[in-house]
Amino acid sequence: MDLKEIKVTPKKKEILNSMGIDSVEDLLTHYPFRYEENVVKPFDEWEKEEKVFFEGLIISSPRLSRFGYKKSVTRFKVLYDEEEIDLTLFNRPWIQNFKVNSKITISGKYEGNYKVTVMQYNSQPIEEQLGIVPVYNVKDGINQRDLRKYMKNALEAFQIGNFIPTDLQQKYKLIDKHKALYYIHFPVKREMLKQSMRCLKYEEFLKFQLKMQYYKHQNEEITKQAKEFDEAKIYKAIDNLPFKLTDDQMNAIKDILEDLKSNHIMYRLVQGDVGSGKTLVAVMAMYASALAGQQSAFLAPTEILAKQHMANVSKVLEPYGVRVELLFSSLATKEKKRVNEELRNGEIDVIVGTHALFQNEVEYHNLGLVIADEQHRFGVEQRRKLLEKGENVDFLLMSATPIPRTLATSLYGDMDVSSIEELPKGRKPIITTLVKESSMRTILQDVLSYIDEGNQCYIVCPAIERNDEYVMRNVEELYQNMRSTLPEKYRMHYLHGKMSTEEKDEIMQSFVNKEFDILIATSVIEVGVDVKDANIMVIYDAERFGLSQIHQLRGRVGRGDKQGYCYLLTKSKDPDSLKRLQILCDSNDGFEISKQDLMIRGPGDMLGKRQSGIPGFILGDIIMDDNILEVAKQDATDLLGNLDHYPQIKQYILKKELTSFID
Ligand code: ADP
Ligand code: MG
Repeated sequence: MDLKEIKVTPKKKEILNSMGIDSVEDLLTHYPFRYEENVVKPFDEWEKEEKVFFEGLIISSPRLSRFGYKKSVTRFKVLYDEEEIDLTLFNRPWIQNFKVNSKITISGKYEGNYKVTVMQYNSQPIEEQLGIVPVYNVKDGINQRDLRKYMKNALEAFQIGNFIPTDLQQKYKLIDKHKALYYIHFPVKREMLKQSMRCLKYEEFLKFQLKMQYYKHQNEEITKQAKEFDEAKIYKAIDNLPFKLTDDQMNAIKDILEDLKSNHIMYRLVQGDVGSGKTLVAVMAMYASALAGQQSAFLAPTEILAKQHMANVSKVLEPYGVRVELLFSSLATKEKKRVNEELRNGEIDVIVGTHALFQNEVEYHNLGLVIADEQHRFGVEQRRKLLEKGENVDFLLMSATPIPRTLATSLYGDMDVSSIEELPKGRKPIITTLVKESSMRTILQDVLSYIDEGNQCYIVCPAIERNDEYVMRNVEELYQNMRSTLPEKYRMHYLHGKMSTEEKDEIMQSFVNKEFDILIATSVIEVGVDVKDANIMVIYDAERFGLSQIHQLRGRVGRGDKQGYCYLLTKSKDPDSLKRLQILCDSNDGFEISKQDLMIRGPGDMLGKRQSGIPGFILGDIIMDDNILEVAKQDATDLLGNLDHYPQIKQYILKKELTSFID
């Protein structure tokens, strides 16, 4: 359904498109990220610092003063509850046009002494705005009122049909979809919102489970030629490693070897904390494949990580006669040609590389296993695409955002899961300190003396997805600042996501080679790069990151045998933020941290464009709503076993691309 049909102008349409809203369906699932409850209180009940909502009569003409670039303040008086209230508005000069004797509805903060700082205002009658009001994520050019209007138009112009089959709807006493969508955008009362959420969450989980379980059935039907290899050789190689593998690593390897030997394709996720030793598990899988005479492809998200894997894999496997090579897009043409040639004629057993591994010109002699590292970069749909790249190949995905096992079996329902919960012995937990400061002022001396001892340091600034320009300025400014204040001998560089891949890789490589001491970066360094001497990390505005993300980030330090340190800087005074960050100081357990993270992050964040690899439910909260998730899982199993009775469900499942769990 086109947005034009609900009276969206072309200009506004463009803005909506840039927010990822392309159709009426997208619009209706642009759910409020929170609700405000508007209640009017008499003036003598107002308390200082409190949010107030009222309708006033303008009794003095607005006076505008401008200062600085594009900055202004407007002041005027209104009469409310027989009191004269002084209003202050920042940076909205157009309010000058409001006329004396007209009414205005104000939402603002009471500063005490008859003064209110206005946050929002409009000229609509207050009676129409009482109750629960949705608050949407918006962008310049689209405001809350526009969205409310479009929602209303959409709900009036279209009747949205039910997806949930009638028997289940009756069983759980769920309201109709159309009504649920109406109430989520125009709730009026708490109870309506609750009913609407129950319905939409259930539908969201049900769709997700249907797809996941269907995929799983599909996978189980794909057969392949079982791999035959001498297992003793693999255990011998494991014995020859300079350290003993943990029990969890061994179990993961056993799971995988079983999968490889079976004549069903493997579709397995290995999840484990940063530093839990997932790479070796992958290496043993590739060895098995090579022994069976089949090629493996080891896919890394970045070139630098690919190079690192290349070094690790060849170190372990080449002594056993396994040929390992590297392939990425910026490789010299001649070299690429040689690698491609040798891949085609089967001389290469293991190829390590980036997405270049799946370009059309790359042909394999007999690809039998694909491993994707740091799976959190891939969503469900990308996983499917990877799977389709090969013909009946085994797939192994590795995730460093581990989640509790029970949750994993629900969320990664299309895959089998091996969890590595135990870290190698002797690993020193990173010492994490919360610094309630906005700068490095109090810790700078400590950091510099670590560097003097030969350590390297990461300094991370927050990446705000919607406003990259601001972040880049942050990184660059911080760099300028530090460069001009610190002695020459501290060599530094900066890195951010807007740089080209080549540039990023080059900087990272020279950091690995210890050509400089301090790397100032956005969270682009998140993914598994190993820098032996990087033992210190400072994270600015730490409250802006997710817990799991910080845990990932700090996993970059203390990779060698030296003690790693992480400083979390924050100027936030919000007790919840501080409590959250404290979790990181108290725990080094990625499973525990991800659980806390999932519990704390709001639905808006879960949707995150960051591709956590954890499905982006818009409404459903996988921890709080785990009972709905469980029920939906069982119902999905029942429905799938009985598809002929549910043509609409069947149609949904057979739809090729799953773009959201809502449509
Ligand atoms: P991740 O799970 O984050 O990918 P890696 O596979 O990169 O972790 O392993 C981190 C480091 O730990 C590597 O240097 C690796 O050689 C080492 N390692 C892996 N397993 C063990 C073990 N069982 N005992 C000691 N060190 C190990
Ligand atoms: Mg890794």
